[in-house]
Amino acid sequence: MPNTQSIKSALAFATVKLNHDEAKLEAQLLLQHVLNVNRAWLIAHKNDALQANQHAAFEALLNRRLNGEPIAYILGGRAFYGLDLLVTPDTLIPRPDTETLVEAALAKIPMAAHPSILDLGTGSGAIALAIAKNRPQASVIAVDASKAALAVAKKNAQNLSIDNVEFVLSNWFQHLNNQPFDVILSNPPYIEENDAHLSQGDLRFEPISALSSGEDGLNDIRQIIENSLVHLQPQGWLMLEHGFNQADKVADLMANTGFVSIETIKDFGGNNRVTIGKNPLIVSTHWAE
Ligand code: GLN
Repeated sequence: MPNTQSIKSALAFATVKLNHDEAKLEAQLLLQHVLNVNRAWLIAHKNDALQANQHAAFEALLNRRLNGEPIAYILGGRAFYGLDLLVTPDTLIPRPDTETLVEAALAKIPMAAHPSILDLGTGSGAIALAIAKNRPQASVIAVDASKAALAVAKKNAQNLSIDNVEFVLSNWFQHLNNQPFDVILSNPPYIEENDAHLSQGDLRFEPISALSSGEDGLNDIRQIIENSLVHLQPQGWLMLEHGFNQADKVADLMANTGFVSIETIKDFGGNNRVTIGKNPLIVSTHWAE
């Protein structure tokens, strides 16, 4: 880039360099980040000159993006279900697909109820916080096996002043007590370990433990399904996000484990994305009292 530049020409330069569908938007986001301004300000001041240090900072961010680093990690945040979340390379970047899981859960959780909800593998806290925010009377427990991810999730809860989520360091159910839940939900790792997508795009920079799970991608899903029933209230729901081609397998696993009312829900792109199943018990047989 030449040394003295207007905002407009810096954006034009970066848009050409980035050269993809979202290039213009990303260029604006990067420059907004450097200048700490919103989009309206940027557009209104497009003829202003950038100072040398601002210019250098923008160039540094642009180079990181050109290197493939996800825009969410460079900006340090991503919006999910109307919440502005911090994300770091310790957490998966929340995807719009996962909003399907949140909506499926909210549809089963009445506003007036005081349900207990469990989010397995919370990462940045996206799912747990979206549910907690929209169901203030719910008690949400969010677990993750990564201490670093939990630290990000806790910070997100603090920043958003959401206080009905408790965070627990646990590999799936391992460190939970015997409390049964009304809804258990998870966006677990589900990509096949040899899937070429793992070495492409944003996925290269995201935690592999949050993405891939054994040869068929279903190792963690199997483990969660096998262990969920004893952690569910009678008539409680298990809701899992999965790959576009995994719905039948997930539904079979649920059926073989004893779940009923099994149903698959499509994401906004029309792909099978979430499968839910219900605990058939009417009366609790858990935790002999
Ligand atoms: N939906 C993500 C992707 O395919 C994967 C997330 C996950 O494995 N849970 O990019």
